[in-house]
Amino acid sequence: MKILIASRNAHKIEEIKDIFALPNVEWLSAADFPELPDVVEDGATFEANAVKKATQLARATGLWALGDDSGLEVVALHGAPGVFSARYAGEPCNYANNNAKLLRELAGQPNRAARFRCVAALSDPTGRAETVAGSCPGRIIDALRGTQGFGYDPLFVPDGYDRAFAEMDGAQKNRLSHRGRALALAKEKWGALLAANAVRWP
Ligand code: IMP
Repeated sequence: MKILIASRNAHKIEEIKDIFALPNVEWLSAADFPELPDVVEDGATFEANAVKKATQLARATGLWALGDDSGLEVVALHGAPGVFSARYAGEPCNYANNNAKLLRELAGQPNRAARFRCVAALSDPTGRAETVAGSCPGRIIDALRGTQGFGYDPLFVPDGYDRAFAEMDGAQKNRLSHRGRALALAKEKWGALLAANAVRWP
């Protein structure tokens, strides 16, 4: 069975394949369909965007598709950057500018509580989708630390740990992270269905 990962982000694609590790599955990704337009992430929630990514690509290709949407929610910023995490600082859109803006917004703020969230959606070829979610609570530190990972990882320390995500290796981050948790649930919920060639749905 073929499953399309509704992303062109190489980091995410590898993470999803590693966590699922299903037999009988040939993974494809949006990168294998360069002619398809990018999905416009204009949903108000992670769930809406994850479902949009999965259903739009499933319908366009006739394949089962798995999409995910994720971001950082900071308590003192009333949940921002949230669904705008990727483009928080505007143009030019990059991780360094987003991190610099986050530090500016939190300057002098004693409440550093935050969480990462991820919603993963699986769609059948007709666009019927189901979702799972994962989150990881933690805090925002006041200077960048570490070089691994991506995005806000150098500023995020998960609860119960002293090191930022960017100071952890991929396996440790995946065990704790919002995406690792959502995808572990996804495997629990959908793994058998997918491995059995998705004969029944939902
Ligand atoms: P999207 O899910 O591809 O829309 O990405 C959302 C954005 O949230 C990313 O560009 C990052 O800025 C941020 N983000 C999501 N997951 C992580 C993570 O695991 N570490 C750091 N930043 C993340």
